[in-house]
This record gives sequence, C-alpha cells and structure tokens, in this order.
Amino acid sequence: MVSASELKASTQLNSLCRILHLPSPGSSSTFPETPARIISCDLEKHCLALQDVTAIGLSVLHTDEIRLDDPGVNGVNWIPNIQSFNIRPRETGHQANNFNFFTDKPEDFQFGRDEWILKADTPKLFKDVLEDFPREIVLIWHDTRGDIKDIRDKLGFDVQASSKKITILDSQIMAKARGYQNQIGLKALTGSLGISGIAFHNGGNDAAVTLINSILMAICHSEEYVSAAALTTFDNDVMSEAQPVSGGLLPPPNSFSGSNTSSASDPTLSTLPASITSEQGHTYSVQEVVVMLMSKAYRVDPLFGSFYHCTRCNGMDHLGVACYGPVNCYRCHGKGHATELCMCPEKHLQQRIQNNIARFGDVRSRQSLLR
Ligand SMILES: [Zn+2]
Ligand SMILES: [Zn+2]
Repeated sequence: MVSASELKASTQLNSLCRILHLPSPGSSSTFPETPARIISCDLEKHCLALQDVTAIGLSVLHTDEIRLDDPGVNGVNWIPNIQSFNIRPRETGHQANNFNFFTDKPEDFQFGRDEWILKADTPKLFKDVLEDFPREIVLIWHDTRGDIKDIRDKLGFDVQASSKKITILDSQIMAKARGYQNQIGLKALTGSLGISGIAFHNGGNDAAVTLINSILMAICHSEEYVSAAALTTFDNDVMSEAQPVSGGLLPPPNSFSGSNTSSASDPTLSTLPASITSEQGHTYSVQEVVVMLMSKAYRVDPLFGSFYHCTRCNGMDHLGVACYGPVNCYRCHGKGHATELCMCPEKHLQQRIQNNIARFGDVRSRQSLLR
C-alpha cells in the first residue's frame, strides 16, 4: 500500500518527468506542448538578529533550449544548459553565518558570478522570473518549508498568491520516490548522486545542485520505467518476478555511479548509467557533467544587478577582496566596516563603543581618522 507521502513523492517526480518529456508512470503519453521554465531556488539567511536574507540562489533551465528527446546519459545534453545566479542584497549580503556547526560560503559561488541588488528590488526580481514570463513555470526547492514564507515575509513576493500558475516541487520529497530516507539533506543527496566538491551554504550553489539532482532523479526514474515496460513487452514471466517500478515503490539500490560520497547506510538511488560515450568516444561521469556546467558559467554582463559591491566599505565599484583603504564605522566606532554594514547587535552596542574608543580613539575625530 502506498502511503500518502509516498504518493505525493512519486506524483511530484512524475510531474517533473512530464515537463521534461520523460516517459514515466502517468506521463508516458501526455507531454506538454508549450515549453517550460524550470527554476530552482535557495535562500541563505543569517541565523541570528533579524534573520535577514543574505543571498538568493536561482538556477534556470528552459525546456525549449534542450533536446527534450535526448537527455544523454547522466544528463550530459541538458545539465550544461543550466544558468545559475547568486543574488545578494547590498544591505544584507555581507552577513554570513560562521558557527562551529555550519559556516556560510558567501564568496564561493561555483556556477557564475555574484550579482548585487537592492533589497527593495527583490519583489521585482521574483516577479520577473516567476510571473512575467510566457511559459509554464516549475519552481523546485530542496525542502520548501520556510523559504516560501521567507520570500513573502522578508522579500515581499508571495509565490502562492501569484497570478501565475506555478508548479512547486520539492527535491527532498521527490528523493523519497527514489528510495531515500525522509528529509534527506541536500549535501547527502548530492553526494550520493555522484557530485562532490560543492561549497554548500551558498545560495547559488545550493540552487544549482537542487536543479541538477532533480533532473538526474527524473532521468533515472524514467529509464527504469522504460526498461520495465520493455521487459513487459518481451517477457511477462520475467516481469512477474521483477520489482514493481512505479514511483515510490523501488527498493533502495545497492550502488551508484560516480564518486559516491554518501555513507554506507544511506539508501541511494538505483544505478544511473555510469557514463556516456560521446561522438569522440569520451565518457562523462555525473561529476564531469557538473564540471562542464561550472566551466561554462562565466558571465560577461550581469542580468539582475551589478557584479560589484564591497562588503567592507559599501562601495559599488569594486569587491571586498580588492578593498584595502581605511574604513570606519561611525555607529560602533569600529574599523574595517562601513557604518551602513555594521552588524553589532543593539544590546551590545554601548559596550562595543566603549571598547572601540578605548582601542582606536573616537573615529569621528580627525586625529583618529589620520592614523
Ligand atoms: Zn571597499
Ligand atoms: Zn560597526
């Protein structure tokens, strides 16, 4: 008997297969005629203080820019066509979590260049990518809990109240249809799919692997369905002894191609084809397909904002790594960050001012500034 959550998981994965024209249970003959924009999203937030959104990761694949009849093994014909963005609000993008239990990687976007926008422009950003586009929109998250609410409450765009019909999928739920444990983390799922070397806790990277993982799972889901259907055609006796193949019912497989970094106890996907053979005879693993995408990611012009914002002096024409001049904060009297970017909590401010004045002098005085 299929539980409600398993049904939901397989329904979601079948829905993605349908958008990608991949045969799967329930989608083998009803592919949409109009192209779709498949877009994954991930928000980074600061854990403390006001829990500001510090980065918006977006990855996009347009189904009219790929050969829908031929994903290639390990998605080699599709995945390198993904476009990824790590969009950081100027007011809050300098904040990064840095704790023992997890550390953000705000400067380690591996699928393109950071773009900086004003926080006030974020509702328009979501409107542009989700509403004002004449295509079917499929929005994928890894664990939707919280992020959709944060976009509404902190960034001013209500996905669920959009005038556009948006199909919302969750790669964490779709993974259940592939035999993974409940609420598998993004890092564990990515590793078990054969992808390593990702700097997680970077919005852009997390969004990129969310989309890649979803596509890989859809391809594998479809290949198993097609293989089982072929077996049925040729030998019903064989099928009677085979495992059921409809969504959510497959047992966890024993192995997976590529560099499997999951622990032995992790249920993993059934085996994706290990590699493809190109016309030149070269074979590509999942990891090589992802590196292929990374190598195409350099962008000459920004699409949403500016490539430049200094997380040190708040300047708009350079990056923090290239900023060496003296910078003073007139709020906490500290050095090394601009007043607008001061992160001192209000409750610690008076003590911090006293400490900083004792250390640097009053930064508002000329004598202090000339040091
Ligand atoms: Zn600067
Ligand atoms: Zn300060």
